[in-house]
Amino acid sequence: GRKFCVGGNWKMNGDQKSIAEIAKTLSDATLDPNTEVVIGAPAIYLMYARNLLPCSIGVAGQNAYKVAKGAFTGEISPAMLKDIGADWVILGHSERRAIFKESDELIAEKAEHALAEGLKVIACIGETLEEREAGNTNDVVARQMCAYAKKIRDWTNVVVAYEPVWAIGTGKTATPDQAQEVHAYLRKWLVENVSQAVSDSLRIQYGGSVTAANAKELAKKPDIDGFLVGGASLKPEFVDIINARQ
Ligand code: 13P
Repeated sequence: GRKFCVGGNWKMNGDQKSIAEIAKTLSDATLDPNTEVVIGAPAIYLMYARNLLPCSIGVAGQNAYKVAKGAFTGEISPAMLKDIGADWVILGHSERRAIFKESDELIAEKAEHALAEGLKVIACIGETLEEREAGNTNDVVARQMCAYAKKIRDWTNVVVAYEPVWAIGTGKTATPDQAQEVHAYLRKWLVENVSQAVSDSLRIQYGGSVTAANAKELAKKPDIDGFLVGGASLKPEFVDIINARQ
């Protein structure tokens, strides 16, 4: 079985006060021991979040560059994330792709380097509304997966996050059937392009307007192995999303 994995992506939100409050909520809550939990904090608060969150919760960078160090003003490296106790990095988020113009190739290079440095990677993919309406959803996610697959040899430390762009921050969650359809396609793609073993073992999260109210139904789908949560991960209801399988 694939261990359920829920990520909270705080994006560019929070300050010391609000982070301490969220950490207290998570520390005081009873969290399903069968769910792996990861928090993606802004880089400047990663050490602070690491210190305040329970040990059982992993901490993730929201981005990291493709080399260990050097003259890359403004960037952070996987080695730095490891150094401060972050075990994960989120890569290829649609906001990185759309706003910061990151290409499939750059994202895959970042994933390759992060894995080589011993980080676990949440590799994001997902189609825009325009791409979905044109009937290109499968082609888009296949293209994005192809780029990752060119650089990733060992998928053990990878979690894929399927996040349809039209569902991110819009309140328009994919229905459980819509999400399951793409997740099932991704399993098939993995069988055909990577291996049956990776298709069976790789965890695929759904992301996009996940809330406590819709998480339980989504979590029942056979190919949905967790969530990547934005807005709701900043609120106490994140606990209910972590516990969605209970
Ligand atoms: P929302 O949950 O706010 O829609 O964000 C999803 C997301 O982008 C997580 O990475």
